[in-house]
Amino acid sequence: MKIKDALLTGFQFLKEHNIDSYFLDTELILCFTIKKKKEWVLSNSDFELSVNQVKRFKKLILKRSKNYPIAYITGYKYFFGLKLKVNKHVLIPRPETELLVESTLKVADPQGQILDIGTGSGAIAVSLAKNLENAKIIASDNSSFALSMARKNARTYKLNKKIKFVKSDLLEKFKNLKINIIIANLPYVKNDWDHASIKHEPHSALYSGKSGLVHYFKLLKQIKKYNINPKYLIIEISPEQVEIISKKTKELFVNANIEIKKDLAGLDRVIIIKF
Ligand code: GLN
Repeated sequence: MKIKDALLTGFQFLKEHNIDSYFLDTELILCFTIKKKKEWVLSNSDFELSVNQVKRFKKLILKRSKNYPIAYITGYKYFFGLKLKVNKHVLIPRPETELLVESTLKVADPQGQILDIGTGSGAIAVSLAKNLENAKIIASDNSSFALSMARKNARTYKLNKKIKFVKSDLLEKFKNLKINIIIANLPYVKNDWDHASIKHEPHSALYSGKSGLVHYFKLLKQIKKYNINPKYLIIEISPEQVEIISKKTKELFVNANIEIKKDLAGLDRVIIIKF
């Protein structure tokens, strides 16, 4: 089979299976299968693929047709200008999470200690380490698989010495620690929200009880109980959770100041709590 025929077959198959990005995804899968850049693929459309290449290509197209994320197929995702490795043990970094990083960079004290809870692929911690010269960054997760991926991503950018990786269930390992900023993109999806786009990603990175608020409520309580005293807590949320999280925050921290930031789609996405 020639490259041009493989591409055509891929486009048609993914289109029939309602994959909106069928064009780009087919190209990415072909490039990945034959380990060539897009420019090469497009200028060698008469190149004859080997039987094995065709087999691998079709297998991946079939996977993609069942909504398996393209980032898990190719093994990477761009975030904040970095090419990050991902696999099925970590949530695929979302563009809206870049807002969380931007918001943190704006208020970060250059020497301060920052804790990224639920780091997953390390997207947030690595982006912060790349952009903050002297900050001390801790990346934590309760999944060893995630921490190992985060470490790999830090190593790619030679930032592994700037980040300390700690396995912890939320703040359990950080009692009485002096931290300036806590940043977190914890699971916040409601348990009954079943969507094809996220069904291949780790359940534990997405869902948080019936309300989607179990993790954030627990975190707020731990901040108070464990005497952490951060200056800021910066979190990503679902827009409809703004009110209830603000209310809970005020209940626990009377003097807290709350600021909301909208993502590029105009939806409330980040809460900046100043204690
Ligand atoms: N934004 C993600 C989604 O809806 C959820 C991320 C999270 O739970 N932290 O797919």
